[in-house]
Amino acid sequence: MRVQVLAEIPRLQDEGFFTYLVPQPLQDRVLPGKRVLIPLGNQVARGIIFEVEQGDERDLKPILAILDREPLLSAEMLALARWMAHYYMAPLTKVVKAMVPSALDDPRKEILVPGEAAAHTPLPPGIYEKLGRSWKDSDLPGEQLAELLRNGLVEVEVTGNEESYSTGVQYVLAPGVSDQVIAQLAKKAPRQARALKYFRDQQVPVAERRAVEAVGAAVLRRLVAKGLIERKEAVPGFHQDPLLNQEQVLAAERILAALDREENRTFLLFGVTGSGKTEVYLKALEHARRRGKQSLVLIPEIGLTQQIIGIFEQRLGPRVSVLHSRLTDSERVLEWLRTRRGEADVVVGARSAVFAPFKDLGLIIIDEEQEPSFHQEENPRYHAREVAVKRAELNGAVVVLGSATPSLESFHRAQTGEYELLRLNQKIAASGRRDIRIVDIKRSYRSGIQAVSPELLDELRECMQARHQAIVFINRRGYSTAVLCAMCGLVLTCRSCEVALTYHRDIHRAVCHYCGKERTVPAQCPRCQKNSLRFLGTGSQKVEEELRTLLPEARIVRMDTDSTRSRGDHGKIIQSIRERKIDLVVGTQMIAKGFDFPGVAVVGVVNADPLLDLPDFRARERAFQLLVQVAGRAGRGASGGRVVIQTFAPEDALFQLVQGEDYEGFYREEIAFREALGYPPFTHLVKLMFSGPDEGLIKEEADYTRTLLEEMTGEIEEDIAILGPAPCVRRKIKNRYRYQILLKSPNLDLMRGITRCIIDRRLPPRVRLDIEVDPLAVT
Ligand SMILES: [Zn+2]
Ligand SMILES: [Zn+2]
Repeated sequence: MRVQVLAEIPRLQDEGFFTYLVPQPLQDRVLPGKRVLIPLGNQVARGIIFEVEQGDERDLKPILAILDREPLLSAEMLALARWMAHYYMAPLTKVVKAMVPSALDDPRKEILVPGEAAAHTPLPPGIYEKLGRSWKDSDLPGEQLAELLRNGLVEVEVTGNEESYSTGVQYVLAPGVSDQVIAQLAKKAPRQARALKYFRDQQVPVAERRAVEAVGAAVLRRLVAKGLIERKEAVPGFHQDPLLNQEQVLAAERILAALDREENRTFLLFGVTGSGKTEVYLKALEHARRRGKQSLVLIPEIGLTQQIIGIFEQRLGPRVSVLHSRLTDSERVLEWLRTRRGEADVVVGARSAVFAPFKDLGLIIIDEEQEPSFHQEENPRYHAREVAVKRAELNGAVVVLGSATPSLESFHRAQTGEYELLRLNQKIAASGRRDIRIVDIKRSYRSGIQAVSPELLDELRECMQARHQAIVFINRRGYSTAVLCAMCGLVLTCRSCEVALTYHRDIHRAVCHYCGKERTVPAQCPRCQKNSLRFLGTGSQKVEEELRTLLPEARIVRMDTDSTRSRGDHGKIIQSIRERKIDLVVGTQMIAKGFDFPGVAVVGVVNADPLLDLPDFRARERAFQLLVQVAGRAGRGASGGRVVIQTFAPEDALFQLVQGEDYEGFYREEIAFREALGYPPFTHLVKLMFSGPDEGLIKEEADYTRTLLEEMTGEIEEDIAILGPAPCVRRKIKNRYRYQILLKSPNLDLMRGITRCIIDRRLPPRVRLDIEVDPLAVT
């Protein structure tokens, strides 16, 4: 018996499959997807089995140990990994790493223990002291370690990862625990009182995992012992079926029918904000569970709020596994193992949850499928939506993509019949009208007002008087977006990145938003030595300050990455908005999604233009989606909403489409433009990015690559466009210069072949080449 092992080769760019022999005692334990230790040169290395096969065993070295009791990756995941490595031209080892929580794949947990042979043969001198350490840190020479493993004197045992939460238990405040009881407890045991408040505010039973996460295991135990919290068997989901409208019923029926047929089919659920997509998701999830299938729900990271998690847990019960970025490593591993054991019916998570280890996957839902956060920018570069669609294909599963403003790719596929389009045009709740106004700020800007036009100010004043809430959106954080010398024109830039520094007033420092470096703002211009430095451009801090002056009575909070740096900040702000302790929120992108408060009646967009100014073919799509999304924050309640979008270019046709919230009008215009210029979805793109510290070298290499590409494509009839090389819009980031070449063609296989030839060539040292297939941004 032999195995094909994908080996992790340290210090080598390269990766590879190697064939090993399986010794007799290990034969009944080898399976594809298990990790093994193997001899590689004179080292011991790790690898993962891809194939188990019969064949010629001469001259083969044996594997040394099997690390996993259960395959780490199922056959389906191995197939998915191969597909990803091929499709995205990413190293297979990187893809495999991305699929597994890093804490589960930690060699420090792979401990040397005495093997069976050690019962009758004494260990060689010095080995006894090595037991209990990981094989990697044992400092044993590779050949000696291999010998010990081969003879069965030592074995490797993987520790940790075994404990598990009970999934069938929930906690709830005991009856009779009044606020008075809590107040009394607060003096003697403040932590317990806080915990009781948590359970009081939840109003529904809390799953054990969440309860422990929220209040800690010790406090929870004590409160149960005191009878203040009740521990009870979980009911699988609260069943209070809300009435669905005709459109929701029709959409759900189509999806349920596909689930019954176990048909690999992708639906695009296209529904305006507030049309009740979540109810359709829940119907599908409940149905999949009834059929004994597991489901995956992907949500943009930023949308993974307690609000949405709460809805899923409440309706689907405790067999929901939630993967969010605040989980600790060991919590992540626990959730992963639960899913693999089939103890989670539904996995809800952001991008990387697409790799959850399902036993029997039947349904995948992707909410806000157009979100750029589903695309991973580092190697392995992939789009979770495309990976999910592939995964569904491998499993015969159903996919539901949901959005009010779908990606052009998905809507196009729905037009051509590749996806089935399901529409939700009606709003479910008695939400009021939304009125969107486009305001030209050229004049108010000249009159010295920076961020808030008189039109927006009027709306905000009225809103405050009516005791409603408001949101003001600005897409830049910090105070001023540039520091400029009014005498000599010098702009303070980051020395490593060639970008203008953003002034942060709270810390009185200029910060680079690309590398994070900070510097003090000098009193004088560093070039002409005059006291003439001026702060230009508007960031969220300046908007906040201006609003505090204009609306001194209003309770204002700022929400951006600066104001939500520590764990819990985000939740606290949300809580105070919900409790109406806040009148006005100034926020960045962070407030565009999952920010549903019925009290918000007015939304202002300080400046829409930077969204449109990006030199990227997707800039208009992103701008449209973001503006509609932000506008959608207003008027969730019955009283309706008013939106003011400020711009220097009100004549741009895009604003009329935003005003009408006319996605299909936007789609028709944009798709014609994409077709005329040959951009996706009519073609694929492959981006070749050259980077390194020596600009001359980078340019030279990029130019030479262009020549090679021209030679190769010259031989071919097919239509391949080569764009560039050109410096990236951010030419220098963290002291590395960046140049890119774009390949554009409908024939992706051909572009891959050509790119493969380029990668296989040796690059000069200090030049790095990164490949991105279907890049999201081309700047
Ligand atoms: Zn100067
Ligand atoms: Zn920088």
